[in-house]
Amino acid sequence: MREIRLASRPVGWPTAENFEIAETPVPEPGPGQVLIRNVFMSVDPYMRGRMNDAKSYIPPFRVGHPLDGGAVGEVVASNADGVPVGAFVSHNLGWREFAATDATRVRVVDPAAAPSLSAYLGLLGMTGLTAYVGLLDIAQFREGDTVFVSGAAGAVGSVAGQIARLRGAKRVIGSAGSAEKARHLVDDLGFDAAFNYKDAPVREQLRAAAPDGIDVYFDNVGGDHLEAAIGSLNMFGRVALCGAIAQYNDTTPGAAPRNLAAAIGKELNLRGFIVGNHGHRTPDFVAEVGGWLREGRITARETIVDGLENAPEAFLGLLRGENTGKMVVRL
Ligand code: NDP
Repeated sequence: MREIRLASRPVGWPTAENFEIAETPVPEPGPGQVLIRNVFMSVDPYMRGRMNDAKSYIPPFRVGHPLDGGAVGEVVASNADGVPVGAFVSHNLGWREFAATDATRVRVVDPAAAPSLSAYLGLLGMTGLTAYVGLLDIAQFREGDTVFVSGAAGAVGSVAGQIARLRGAKRVIGSAGSAEKARHLVDDLGFDAAFNYKDAPVREQLRAAAPDGIDVYFDNVGGDHLEAAIGSLNMFGRVALCGAIAQYNDTTPGAAPRNLAAAIGKELNLRGFIVGNHGHRTPDFVAEVGGWLREGRITARETIVDGLENAPEAFLGLLRGENTGKMVVRL
């Protein structure tokens, strides 16, 4: 079987040379383990941080070893009660064609309850849960709020904006990196307004889209987006600090937000979070978002790249904004 390994650590923007594809024997499942044939794997922005040799909330990838990350696949051999051959599972050993892991570390998923198995990496998976927890628990969204979401055409942002709409936001505004993505937000996902952050300063475009200010900011981007949001937030505004993708490839820290002191007078609440610490919300998330999915009230586009050998390129494309919705690799 084939797997993708970290060949070297990037400085600044990663390149194809930082990855290598290798042949390795299909693993033998041990007692209590299952062998999974991966069908889809996820590429995610947080993986950029794991390519650095830096202490973080999750250990770095090791040079010469396979990468890992979210995946869904079919159980092809089982030494575990309760997870039979033929079951579909989501787990954390992506970037390889087959994986052997403890049955306690997989989640059995229902292919019939999703438009595609890949939804368990996106709308019904980690990025959907991130949107749910970030908006409802971290930003404490309330009906009638005006909400601004950055990275809004991506996996997390597109779901966060739709949850805000479905939960009764007064107005939902999104930013994304092209005119086509901005159109998608309004025409397909029901955002009230959207802009291309490359057209003009975020501060100006946000002010024009939300003349009465915003109550909640769902931050996927950081930098000048966060600075603009702080400027537009109303009294007691709330911010979910979800990601700062504008900075992940920086070699020196960025300057913005320069206006953080404004958070004092406005009594803003800016709160970071890591979705992995909020798994207890999965049942509520599956019930509510799964319900909207069955009723056809929520949608999630995916950008699918074929072939394990193209996974590094899918990851690099994600950082460049080549995806609309969740970026996944079909093996
Ligand atoms: P996306 O599907 O949103 O893909 C990344 C997107 O980021 C690209 O499509 C691109 O879209 C945008 N982007 C890239 N560079 C920039 C830039 N300089 N400025 C603005 N936008 C940029 O990824 P996810 O939905 O998986 O993740 C979104 C964010 O959420 C990331 O910051 C990620 O790290 C974070 N995250 C945090 C989690 C947590 O637990 N806290 C869990 C999961 C994700 P465009 O064309 O619009 O530029």
